[in-house]
Amino acid sequence: MKEDFDSNWADQTLNVGRYRTLQRKIVILIAVAALLPLISLATINYYEHHSALMVQVQEPLRALVGKTKHSFELFLAERISAVSFIASAYPMSQLADTKFLARIFQTMSQAFTGFVDIALIGEDGSLLSYVGPYQLKDINYTGQPWFQQVLIRGAYISDVFLGFRQFPHVVIAVRHIEADGRAWIVRATLDTTQFEHIIASMGLEAGSDAFLTNRQGVLQTESRRYGHVLDQLPFALPPANFEPNVQEFQDNGGQTYFLSLSLVGHTDFVLVAMKPKPSALSILYAVRKDLVLVFLAGVVLIFGGVFTATRIIIQRLRESDAQRLAAIHQMEHTQRLSSIGRLAAGVAHEINNPLAIINEKAGLLQDLLQRQPDFPNKERFMQQIEAILRSVDRCRGITHRMLGFAKRMDVKIEVLDLNAIVTETVGFLEREAQYRNVTIEQRLAPNLTNIPTDHGQLQQVILNILNNALAAVTDGGHITITTWDADDRIGLAIGDNGCGMSEETLKHIFEPFFTTKKEKGTGLGMSITYGIVKRLGGDIQIQSAPGKGTTVTIFLPKRPPEGEGVQP
Ligand code: ADP
Ligand code: MG
Repeated sequence: MKEDFDSNWADQTLNVGRYRTLQRKIVILIAVAALLPLISLATINYYEHHSALMVQVQEPLRALVGKTKHSFELFLAERISAVSFIASAYPMSQLADTKFLARIFQTMSQAFTGFVDIALIGEDGSLLSYVGPYQLKDINYTGQPWFQQVLIRGAYISDVFLGFRQFPHVVIAVRHIEADGRAWIVRATLDTTQFEHIIASMGLEAGSDAFLTNRQGVLQTESRRYGHVLDQLPFALPPANFEPNVQEFQDNGGQTYFLSLSLVGHTDFVLVAMKPKPSALSILYAVRKDLVLVFLAGVVLIFGGVFTATRIIIQRLRESDAQRLAAIHQMEHTQRLSSIGRLAAGVAHEINNPLAIINEKAGLLQDLLQRQPDFPNKERFMQQIEAILRSVDRCRGITHRMLGFAKRMDVKIEVLDLNAIVTETVGFLEREAQYRNVTIEQRLAPNLTNIPTDHGQLQQVILNILNNALAAVTDGGHITITTWDADDRIGLAIGDNGCGMSEETLKHIFEPFFTTKKEKGTGLGMSITYGIVKRLGGDIQIQSAPGKGTTVTIFLPKRPPEGEGVQP
């Protein structure tokens, strides 16, 4: 039986760990189930937003570069057409006439801004005529790179260079070939301040930059960040083509930009525009911060909610498990007691008959003796018979108690005197108390109201508490039992001056199998007591301090407990 309790106790301890594991599993499961969609949603949302914003940021830059590149192309195409027209519309003889050329140049300058001078050059590279601010004579251009290019390509626009006037210029040269095979070249110089105007018309924000470079990265217009015309860019240009593209780009200063570039038709030029990334993406960063905050708040809420909910559920589960366990054990215990009780009743019944016979016969002997005045040793015989009768009386008391104990195993509500039950129950323990020199003082209220209650159950309650008190006191200790009337209830207090209990023990005292007595205790006494008191419609309270002693107080109602009929 002891092993039984021990293994149950072990089960109980094991359960604590099991509940914790269960709680952890539920929390993890629900949290994962709730968080996964949240995380995926946040991630998808973030990337969608990111890419949408990228397009939103990059598209205007791409469009601006495209538009500006077209402006450059248009500007240059017009001027190449004008020079081509001059080269093919007039015979060489007329173009070679400086006065005629001057008149054409004047008309051309009116129609198209930016031309500085014009010259006619023979196929052999010799200057045939010139209109412009310089005094050029007897020059041969054969060795010049632009001359070679125009012979190969037919039309050519040079890179920017600083002329004698230290002004940025480009050369536009066009070759014309007559039907008879004769060829000449018309070469005009263009002032590139127009380029700056076109760039300025892009309307760049602060921090942004745009400029023309040639393919080797030499600036063809001013740059806000990288210096003046003909300065070399401090980084290699990423590959470009005629469709403007946008890419992320980190310059040597560590600053990240969106860089858009496009080749400019007819030329070696590359149009470059750049916009710092952080300013472009500041909205994204703001949104990202919000997103992270909302996400974190969600995580905290979910975890908090799940944790609290599971804790409550597990707590309930634990309580109901404990209750069920307690109920089962209480039932087992009562059943065991009731079978012991029935056995006791049987034995008591069997013994009662012979006892009655002994009593009767001894009484008869006594009578007979009394009628014989001269019976020898009469006094001694009388003494023996009285001893027999006393012992029979004691035996009767015992069997009577045994029968009473058995009868009270079945729950039966009767109107009873609590004081009587107390006295009767103390009787069971008197011997042990005497042996250990423990005094059990009964301070019973003289006119205590009778209450409807169960004799056997109440006896068990008092026995359980008295047993604990006896175990708590040292030899020579003191136990006090008090009863009193308290409005619609009556009170019963059992106090001892024993070892008392710690807070921790007090907290667990009503738990089934909770004991501090190791093998000597079952931990069932107080849990059963609690169950009975509650079933009888009462209340139980315990005051205890370590070293000072313990008082268990029980209140029982004067009206019958609910659902129980009172037997007469
Ligand atoms: P058990 O007596 O088998 O240990 P109980 O349920 O009767 O089980 O009591 C549980 C525990 O409560 C005891 O082990 C003991 O520590 C404590 N306890 C109960 N009554 C007293 C008391 N009068 N004085 C000190 N401790 C007590
Ligand atoms: Mg006990």
